[in-house]
Amino acid sequence: MSQDEAVISTNDDATACKRFAVQLGYWSDSYIQHFSKLGDRKTPEINRGYYARVKGMRTLLNQFLSQTECNCQVVNLGAGFDSLFWLLKEEGLAPKLFVEIDFGNVTSRKCYNIRARRKLQEVFSQDDGLKIDGNEAHSKQYHLLAVDLRKIDALENRLNEIGIDKSLPTMFITECVLVYMEPERSAAIINWAGANFKTAVFINYEQVNMQDRFGQVMIQNLRSRNCELLGACACPDLESHKQRFISNNWDKAEVLDMMSVYNCLPSDDRKRIERIEFLDEVDLLHQLLSHYCIAWAVNDAAQLGLSNIAF
Ligand code: SAM
Repeated sequence: MSQDEAVISTNDDATACKRFAVQLGYWSDSYIQHFSKLGDRKTPEINRGYYARVKGMRTLLNQFLSQTECNCQVVNLGAGFDSLFWLLKEEGLAPKLFVEIDFGNVTSRKCYNIRARRKLQEVFSQDDGLKIDGNEAHSKQYHLLAVDLRKIDALENRLNEIGIDKSLPTMFITECVLVYMEPERSAAIINWAGANFKTAVFINYEQVNMQDRFGQVMIQNLRSRNCELLGACACPDLESHKQRFISNNWDKAEVLDMMSVYNCLPSDDRKRIERIEFLDEVDLLHQLLSHYCIAWAVNDAAQLGLSNIAF
């Protein structure tokens, strides 16, 4: 299996884990089941980790949508089988333009699912004009593009073709994506986004603190499944996650490890999910969550108050 194939397969893992946690009631998502079969049981700490990841990213996105009153764009880089667009449509929170980008192998399977499942098509009205063509899907509001993110010129050209508006507030999302690239590739994406979008937020979920024993075991596990964490050395600690943005055209950056994110989520919801499954070893959850983080960076030329976005 090549490195790219191994990276592509991480999407199947992520989708299966999300589907499993949804099935147990960690959060609601009636669309994820159309992208993945119900796989093997996952441990309670994995399910809680996914809960923190999904809710953490939504917490920042919801603030952005509220501040911009949805008059904005969302670009999900390495989107995999994410169901976020469908959830936002259902909640009446979809932005003006929502773009998903991934390798052609992934987008073609996503296209297949959209074509095959009425539930996934129902969110598109006649007026939206959804067209699925090979490994891409296009509608007025939603675009699924097959682009290798390491090719910045192609990324730029394709986004221009579908009419991205660089002056509109834009949120970039990379959820467990950048770590699979060489550090100079991920830096180039962040740099390009920061240079071109001056009223924007970039949110990145990724591994951190991988140099201790627990981190090394995680890296080893991924290697044994043929997947290298090529970018793990780019940001060895929380501070370097911030600095990667600051030194690549972003005015402000913040970062929290996932244990802190978990503790910031609404306590009544945390209490609810903590009752779903008994967690034997709380230490294991702490260890796991301290090896992931969410970093977010802001450029706010239009002075919309995007710097106030926080946990
Ligand atoms: N963001 C989704 C989520 O959190 O559910 C999927 C995460 S999955 C771990 C990583 C995704 O990044 C995969 O779908 C993979 O194909 C995509 N990816 C990684 N490197 C990429 C690249 N160079 N170009 C396009 N997509 C890439």
